[in-house]
Amino acid sequence: MKAAVVTQLGQPIEIQDRQVPEPSTDQVLVRIEASGLCHTDIHAAHGDWPVKPTPPFVPGHEGVGIVEKLGSSVTAHQLGDRVAIPWLGQACGDCRYCVDGRETLCESQQNSGYSIDGAFAEYAVVDARYAVTVPAGVEPFDAAPLSCAGLTSYKSVKVARVQPGETVVVFGIGGLGHLAVQYARLVGATVIAVDIDDEKLALATSLGADHVVNAAKVDPVVAIADLGGADVALAYAVAPVAFNQAFASLNRGGRLICVALPAEGTMSIPIFDTVLKGIEIIGSIVGTRQDLAEVFRLHAQGRTRVIAEGRKLEQVNDAIEELRAGSIAARLVFEF
Ligand code: NAD
Ligand code: ZN
Ligand code: ZN
Repeated sequence: MKAAVVTQLGQPIEIQDRQVPEPSTDQVLVRIEASGLCHTDIHAAHGDWPVKPTPPFVPGHEGVGIVEKLGSSVTAHQLGDRVAIPWLGQACGDCRYCVDGRETLCESQQNSGYSIDGAFAEYAVVDARYAVTVPAGVEPFDAAPLSCAGLTSYKSVKVARVQPGETVVVFGIGGLGHLAVQYARLVGATVIAVDIDDEKLALATSLGADHVVNAAKVDPVVAIADLGGADVALAYAVAPVAFNQAFASLNRGGRLICVALPAEGTMSIPIFDTVLKGIEIIGSIVGTRQDLAEVFRLHAQGRTRVIAEGRKLEQVNDAIEELRAGSIAARLVFEF
């Protein structure tokens, strides 16, 4: 089978011919139909973060495809099921986080496309219990970006506890942000979209954003203050400066939700303002299997739109350059 492999951190990804993997007793073999390119895959291939992946590995955690083989003890899926392979490739199932509904905090988790091989390949194996069913009514091309960009942005709107009538500012209208605009609208918020690219902002408007701010042209903190400030700031821009701006945009009682993971990852938060304004700063990491089921259900009901362009797996290095340059609409999806 064809697979995109990181053989050395920071080097171009190689297309290799590999053996189709055999599912172990708890796994299923999935024939991949569509596989989204998340900015996290770039961080992984570059080794941007303190905990680095070990090459060689196959990136990709927005994989969607058909179950073609079952491990001997699998009961969660059947042959022919369409499933998603998300970032949470496996968790222990027994720790305090797994049992209290916070499985994405499990300390024994495996991550698809990072600590275990992911979905940039014609076939992938996944723990059957962590492969999430893609329901009828959600096309594989849409399901792929929903499996991380949708899931993560949905979860961050949830942990922000957005109330109807609040103002939510979304920093970064890429894969995650273009869906966050829609989830924030669904819970009744007024939405301000911030990006450094006018085309991304035009997209945000078409998806329901009430206001847009180009942070390359004006100071977003001033522009957001002029709009009345924000109750929730969602940080998806791969730029530390955007975290500082997001914080400074908040009204009293505001919540800053940290989601993006830029390589030079430090933000500077004034203690005085945090305390006096009663600001909450919250980290949000992907979402649970249940969250993803909810994301798929909303999409099947026609409540969300995925904006994506197709590519071939052989174009993986060009696709990474396109995503880094910000020259794509919102998401790229490898189609098989
Ligand atoms: P993306 O490249 O599709 O989107 C980033 C957007 O930010 C782009 O539209 C870009 O134009 C915009 N941007 C860049 N600099 C900006 C600035 N200074 N101000 C405003 N906007 C700016 O990336 P993505 O796939 O949406 O991922 C975003 C980040 O989230 C990445 O760091 C990724 O690793 C991280 N991520 C985190 C989680 C999690 O669970 N916490 C999950 C998925 C992705
Ligand atoms: Zn656990
Ligand atoms: Zn992702």
